[in-house]
Amino acid sequence: MGEAKRIVIVGAGQAGATLVQRLRELGFGGQITLVGAEPYLPYQRPPLSKAYLLGDMDLDGLTLRPRDYYDAQGITLKLGNAVSAIDRDAKTVTVGQERLDYDHLVLATGGGATALPADAGGELEGIFPIRGIDDINRLEPQIVAGRKVLIVGGGYIGLEAAAVCNKRGLDVSLVVASERILRRVAAPVTSDYFRKLHQDHGVRIIEGAGSVKLVGDGRVRGAELGNGLSLEADFVICGIGLTPSIGLAELAGLEIDNGIWTDACCTTSDPCIWAAGDCASFPYEEGRIRLESVGNAIDQAKVVAENIVATLEGRDRKAYVAKPWFWSDQYDVKFQIAGLNKGYDTVIVRDSGTGAVSHWYYRGERLVAVDAMNDPRAYMVGKRLIEGGKTADPDLVADPATDLKILMKR
Ligand code: FAD
Repeated sequence: MGEAKRIVIVGAGQAGATLVQRLRELGFGGQITLVGAEPYLPYQRPPLSKAYLLGDMDLDGLTLRPRDYYDAQGITLKLGNAVSAIDRDAKTVTVGQERLDYDHLVLATGGGATALPADAGGELEGIFPIRGIDDINRLEPQIVAGRKVLIVGGGYIGLEAAAVCNKRGLDVSLVVASERILRRVAAPVTSDYFRKLHQDHGVRIIEGAGSVKLVGDGRVRGAELGNGLSLEADFVICGIGLTPSIGLAELAGLEIDNGIWTDACCTTSDPCIWAAGDCASFPYEEGRIRLESVGNAIDQAKVVAENIVATLEGRDRKAYVAKPWFWSDQYDVKFQIAGLNKGYDTVIVRDSGTGAVSHWYYRGERLVAVDAMNDPRAYMVGKRLIEGGKTADPDLVADPATDLKILMKR
């Protein structure tokens, strides 16, 4: 099957690496070329703001598979090379001076850390994003005990970086323009939990700053906040979100909608071009969504591989059904999230009294998401219920005496 066919994947990250593996597992025997702008073998990003930044993991630990794997599978790697153009009529992509032919092309281009604008001091020296290995290589020399770091952004990456810098002995301040940390992704009760966790470790959390303007004399020296506060900083970590890498798709005239537009089966507006991972926007419930998580990158990439093979064999494509999950590590708290809390109206708190805490989100009577802090059982039960389209009686959930397993039998 597909012996003479050529598949080119743009982006050698989590989605790209999963896709090439799945293609071979499915018996695709044609040419596979994985093109990556970074000079590294495909690697996992989550440890960059956790174990890797802490110094508990080396480069080998980050790498998803050794080079031998790709050689053995007959997968051509072109690393340290960005695809600069797609010619959809000729079905070629340009990589440096080279042109690669494709029968099917997959865009798995991920995204870049959103930068602070110049009028917010974003062009000063001493501001560090966390997206890739090179970012950590640049950041690492800054992390010296006793120095003052200012973290801008109160999402997962900002909070994880705050925990690591705190553990490494820095004086940490974290500032968010909006009224609370984790505002985009979690209920106030989860924000409260993590604010207290960080404050208990001595991190200064400043919420409701209104605006954040970094100041300095060429190099950042601090920040002036919209609420009138001024902060000093030796350097800044910027964690204000991700901007999906859509430039290549846009240039090729593909449809864009908060990411590279795909239909339910992960096909872009060109039937020979597919998209997966952080860069892809796809139908979800009544609207569209773009997810930024390892789970999504893996599951979506697998569906793309299966659908390409199905197309080559003249079979129907299948729809990608997202089952969102996520995790974050901060200090000794393992934070696991199942489902998406979009549109929730009620949050039930379950506190075991022994450190395991979970927050259960409902939209009407429907359970839509669970935040579990050091509570793997709540996460596991919540995830199964949500994925099975089931709900859980809020009174039973709230009662710490309820054995959560019984919820699955109802
Ligand atoms: P990426 O892994 O970003 O890979 C895309 C690749 O495409 C990049 O290497 C890029 O250089 C390359 N590329 C882009 N354009 C081109 C081009 N024109 N030519 C060639 N190559 C190109 N998710 C979780 O679920 N849990 C976590 O705890 C978690 N923690 C995270 C911590 C950090 C610090 C970061 C940065 C992310 C974290 N994530 C986490 C998110 C997760 O890592 C991403 O969702 C996932 O990596 C997405 O995979 P991807 O393949 O879509 O994109």
